[in-house]
Amino acid sequence: MYEVNFTPAFNDNYIWFITHHGNTVVVDPGCADSVNDYLNTHNLTLCGILVTHHHKDHTGGVDSLKKQFPEIPVYGPKNSPFKGITNSLKQGDKVELPWVNAEFTIWETPGHTLDHICYIDDQSAFVGDTLFASGCGRLFEGDAQQMHASLLPFLDLDPSIQMYCGHEYTLANVRFANTVEPDNLIIADYLEVVERHTEKGMATLPTTLQTEFDTNPFLRFREPSLVKSVECWYGDSLSDEAIIFEQTRAWKDQLDASGVLE
Ligand SMILES: [Zn+2]
Repeated sequence: MYEVNFTPAFNDNYIWFITHHGNTVVVDPGCADSVNDYLNTHNLTLCGILVTHHHKDHTGGVDSLKKQFPEIPVYGPKNSPFKGITNSLKQGDKVELPWVNAEFTIWETPGHTLDHICYIDDQSAFVGDTLFASGCGRLFEGDAQQMHASLLPFLDLDPSIQMYCGHEYTLANVRFANTVEPDNLIIADYLEVVERHTEKGMATLPTTLQTEFDTNPFLRFREPSLVKSVECWYGDSLSDEAIIFEQTRAWKDQLDASGVLE
């Protein structure tokens, strides 16, 4: 089976590498220099590029890598405004990556952007900016209804699946989770672990889906403790789980804007 590693880029991006026997496929290469450094250090052959969505910090290195390695395929969403994609993907498509012994199924997950897709198999989920450890992407292009619908299928995945997210936002996210559910001991324990890791400059990713089920406010819209807390913040009862998700997102956006989670 393949292994997965990362190199950091910019302030808080992660560029993931799916590697098998000296071959690698890169996910969301926002920066070509970071990718080249990683390839050289680890003596790897780049065989393909996977793109989750059009944002520059996920695609900025594609053109330069494609000039360097003209023969490699660039997989990405069919409806993407990013023009560097050679192999377009839509809901349910299978991506075979024989160089690294992998095959992923495509999930369309509009919300953060309208073109966002995730790459899923039975051990990994490359989720870009759809999900973060204890968080989810901000709704720049889609709405809360859409994002809630995009996240629902994750509830049915195997909890042991490793989640490879696009950013290190974990500390602020778990602080928010702890604000929403102050009596949740799993979240309190996780906050301590994440604080320790972050202090030492260690990555908190990948996470597992089980950790997300236990700690992520944006996947916990069915949990009575979260619902009660969000309704209390909102000041009224909330009729369905998409609205609960929407108000959880609104609460986090408000705290992000005020800087209290930093
Ligand atoms: Zn993004």
